[in-house]
Amino acid sequence: MLRHAVAMIKAIVGGTLIDGTGAAPRRNAVVLIEEDRIQGVGVTGDMIPPPGAEVYDATGKTVMPGVIDTHDHLASHGYDLLTRLGLQQAISYTNLLTARAIRHTLEAGITTVRDAAGLDRGFKQAVEEGLIPGPRLLITLDFISPTGGISDRTTISNHYIHPNPALPDPVADGPTAVRAKVREMIRAGADTIKTATTGGVSSPRHGPKDAEYSRVELEALVDEAHAQGKRVMCHALGGPGLELAVNCGVDSIEHGGYLDEQPETIKRMAAQGTYFVLTYSVYVHHRRSPFEYMRVRANEMFQHHLKSLTVALDAGVRVAMGTDTGGWAHGQNMTELQLLVEAGMKPMDAMVASTGEAARCIGLEDDVGSIEAGKYADLLVVDGDPSRDIAVLQDQAKILAVIKGGAFAKDAL
Ligand SMILES: [Zn+2]
Repeated sequence: MLRHAVAMIKAIVGGTLIDGTGAAPRRNAVVLIEEDRIQGVGVTGDMIPPPGAEVYDATGKTVMPGVIDTHDHLASHGYDLLTRLGLQQAISYTNLLTARAIRHTLEAGITTVRDAAGLDRGFKQAVEEGLIPGPRLLITLDFISPTGGISDRTTISNHYIHPNPALPDPVADGPTAVRAKVREMIRAGADTIKTATTGGVSSPRHGPKDAEYSRVELEALVDEAHAQGKRVMCHALGGPGLELAVNCGVDSIEHGGYLDEQPETIKRMAAQGTYFVLTYSVYVHHRRSPFEYMRVRANEMFQHHLKSLTVALDAGVRVAMGTDTGGWAHGQNMTELQLLVEAGMKPMDAMVASTGEAARCIGLEDDVGSIEAGKYADLLVVDGDPSRDIAVLQDQAKILAVIKGGAFAKDAL
């Protein structure tokens, strides 16, 4: 019995620990893992792995928490209309592409994902049961938005397409219907409620500063979500829709490319603790889009988006890493950390925004986001020091180990 218990201990020894809290790196670290949780964290000499422990030597390497992407679209595989509407191929084929995207994302070192629309509860169940490898998943199912809004898939020809019957129809108008839609999303498995109060760069009808939803509708949405213990992540790029979202108390602003134009909104985000998830990665893609309207909107927003990060940080707004991956590639989520650094964040702060702060943004801070006793053993062993060179995380050959819940998803140690 004792032998069996001891055999369950893994020890990662000798590496430099960056624990996800923002604390200075610790050399010669020892991380003990018992089954799926971290049992203890210390340094060589103070903490000795018990006899029989599986010991992994991480000397000269960095040990850090698994990265959390707070905004991904694991079930998105293209921006063209046929793909978006699910007309390009059989649903079974799309689902297999999604399963592959989920695996690639985990192997890249992303151990938790908040999916920001598109993924249904079957994928989450399949990962939790070990049917397919993947990150821990929080799902939103789809954006709740009004008629003509970002998730209304009625075409110009007035055809209505519902791409995936596993997802509720996301359109709702008026406070009563919006409240019912929140309940419907939760019934269908949503962990978090996603909405949009502005158009976007890729949305066909509304642009980045065009408002969607009235105050009474958004108040009803936020009130209902919070009453049911769910957070609200809100796509909002700029203008009155962005201001409304913050004033109505959404928990995170997604994208926020024109936030720099709204100093009062920034102050309110800082005061309320509203998270800012910039998702620079998707706009790198949109600036090169084959669709002209997307290129134009993305290029117009570019400098504002860069400035939005620095003014938000100066004001004390909390930032969490999100990529808005989907539609162009999966598994390249680590690029976002470099984009945050290029926009003015210190590498260590970008790492915290991708671990400890990201966990707080999505409400999983008791379980993930840092390497501390009691949390899930979600961690990476990296050949290099991302606190000096953040780009090292993008080189998958340098991600030597990905451990999720104490089990190796990748082991090149
Ligand atoms: Zn998105």
